[in-house]
Amino acid sequence: MTKRYDLHCHSTCSDGTLTPTELVSRAADRGVNVLALTDHDTVAGLAEARTEAHSRQMDLINGVEISALWNKQTIHIVGLQVDPDNPVLLSGLDRIAVERIRRAKKIAERMEHCGVEDCWRLAVEMAGTEAVTRTHFARILLESGTVNSMDKAFRHWLGRKGKAYVAGHWAPMEDAVKWIRAAGGQAVIAHPGRYKLSRTKMKRLFTEFKQAGGVAVEIACSSQHDQQRTNIAAIASELELLASAGSDFHTPGIYGIELGFNLNLPYNCDPIWTTWS
Ligand code: AMP
Ligand code: MN
Ligand code: MN
Ligand code: MN
Repeated sequence: MTKRYDLHCHSTCSDGTLTPTELVSRAADRGVNVLALTDHDTVAGLAEARTEAHSRQMDLINGVEISALWNKQTIHIVGLQVDPDNPVLLSGLDRIAVERIRRAKKIAERMEHCGVEDCWRLAVEMAGTEAVTRTHFARILLESGTVNSMDKAFRHWLGRKGKAYVAGHWAPMEDAVKWIRAAGGQAVIAHPGRYKLSRTKMKRLFTEFKQAGGVAVEIACSSQHDQQRTNIAAIASELELLASAGSDFHTPGIYGIELGFNLNLPYNCDPIWTTWS
């Protein structure tokens, strides 16, 4: 029997809306056999996810999605099979947590300046003990009726051209890869189709990523359609990078994004899981 893999998703430990237990249970209900929980810049949800995965007889891969910089642009590097107790990884993630607080306070200040009241308190309340992300601010904008869609929250407020945009001063991509490798993991470029790169630039990113020790690229993900997958797979296979597949699921009810759903790889890919025993 072929297994169903989903190697990218989020829980309430970052900007998802399901707890690790709910997330794993939902994935199991949808026939996922192998799930990687990859919260933004944290491994805090893995222990809870593992308990539920065990009772549902599902394989849980220890993952993380690290915010990083390449060519002055934010990109995301997924780490798979990481040791969540590794001190090098944990100290890298601690650095990001500090930067997230700095950035979030500035975003809140800008939003409050534009008339969104009580922004910082609401964001902290929403995030609980976990890191504040832009998704939390987007939900505040939505719930206060300031915007009528998440898309508009990012377009007009939180995205690069938005009025409350604050750049994150993340570590360089090479450092993120180093932390993942130190923790015994495999580094994967998340959703390359989202970075708006030309083919030449994407090839440069993949080349520098491989030189840094990265091994795979997300080919199948919810935000990449079939033609994009084929194009990205061609660059990846030219550079002998493995292929990964993950939904980037955050919350139920978003059209077209579901755990384990629509994650077919083009025929010529070498899936990253073929390297797993
Ligand atoms: P941050 O890591 O705090 O910069 O937040 C990035 C997160 O915002 C991403 O992981 C997505 O979950 C979310 N995001 C970015 N752009 C959009 C968008 N246009 N619509 C909905 N969510 C978005
Ligand atoms: Mn997210
Ligand atoms: Mn991402
Ligand atoms: Mn993600």
